[in-house]
Amino acid sequence: MRWQGQQLGTIDEAALSGLDSTDDLVRSVTTPDFAGVTFHEVMARSALNRVPSTSEMPFDWTVNPYRGCSHACVYCFARGSHAYLDLDTGRDFDSQIIVKANIAEVLRAEVRRGSWGREHVALGTNTDPYQRAEGRYRLMPGIIDALAESGTPFSVLTKGTLLRRDLPQLVAAASVVDVSIAMSIAIFDDDLQKSVEPGTPSTHARLDTVRAATDAGFRVTVFMMPIMPHLTDSMPALQNALSRIREAGAARVIYGAMHLRPGVKPWFMAWLRREHPELVSSYLGLYPGASAQAPKQYRQWLSRRVRPLLRAYKLDGSAEEETARFRPRQTSTPSRVIQTKSAAAARLF
Ligand code: SF4
Repeated sequence: MRWQGQQLGTIDEAALSGLDSTDDLVRSVTTPDFAGVTFHEVMARSALNRVPSTSEMPFDWTVNPYRGCSHACVYCFARGSHAYLDLDTGRDFDSQIIVKANIAEVLRAEVRRGSWGREHVALGTNTDPYQRAEGRYRLMPGIIDALAESGTPFSVLTKGTLLRRDLPQLVAAASVVDVSIAMSIAIFDDDLQKSVEPGTPSTHARLDTVRAATDAGFRVTVFMMPIMPHLTDSMPALQNALSRIREAGAARVIYGAMHLRPGVKPWFMAWLRREHPELVSSYLGLYPGASAQAPKQYRQWLSRRVRPLLRAYKLDGSAEEETARFRPRQTSTPSRVIQTKSAAAARLF
């Protein structure tokens, strides 16, 4: 960990007044390597989060080493969660990052308990575990070790090319537990991608990471989500996206139209007014009032476009809502080869 050049920020008690009672703030840090970003290092008292039984998510447990995400996607569904910290869901979400500095040790203790059922753990379902902060804090290696040592199967979903740093370790983990890897890549127009996801690695770099993970033996899933009405849903755009995903070696695609949940909508609409004012009325029509999901008609129209392309490019694939209907089988006996692991990844994603 590099501490040179950092400053210990003055902790503004009010700024994080909503911090979980289960986490203790240690200090706030700014550093020239991450201009404009403040890291709030906390000592977490728990690492495993149970997904509410009412959730449609196809897993029961998650681990989130960070809250907030410097990838700064304007559509990010997790923005609303920053409001619980009394931070705003726009710029603060991108720049005030909560770092659970001790998460690997806490997780290791939790998964060693006799009561832990070695159920599947999903990483990257709230904020990105391979966002830029991970380059500084290196929390994922300890998390991967803790899960693998305890015989806990897990999945990683990310936009971060930093995943490549941990590929050897992920391959080693996959020799003892089911490990699945998914990369989120939805925007294949470089200018649009930089505007909508300003803190993320480029699409090209993410496709290279898919290739690297594929070459390492993983059956990689690409999350082609969110597909943005009028911006990324034309036939040429979808063809270009799926051909490049196929070329990168991905095995499977999950696609879905944009969601605009309440904490996200104002931030996204401000971006839309600035960058594409001609689309504002159309988006207000598609996502009226508090509605978060694109209308069923639009999603069906999108499926009619995407499905034939998936077949044409020989990609396994499904719509987001189809994957949400089932939960993965609980795995108590680890598989020993990456090929068997891939079948579990297919079930999960
Ligand atoms: S990478 Fe994921 S978690 Fe991070 S801002 Fe983008 S959508 Fe949100």
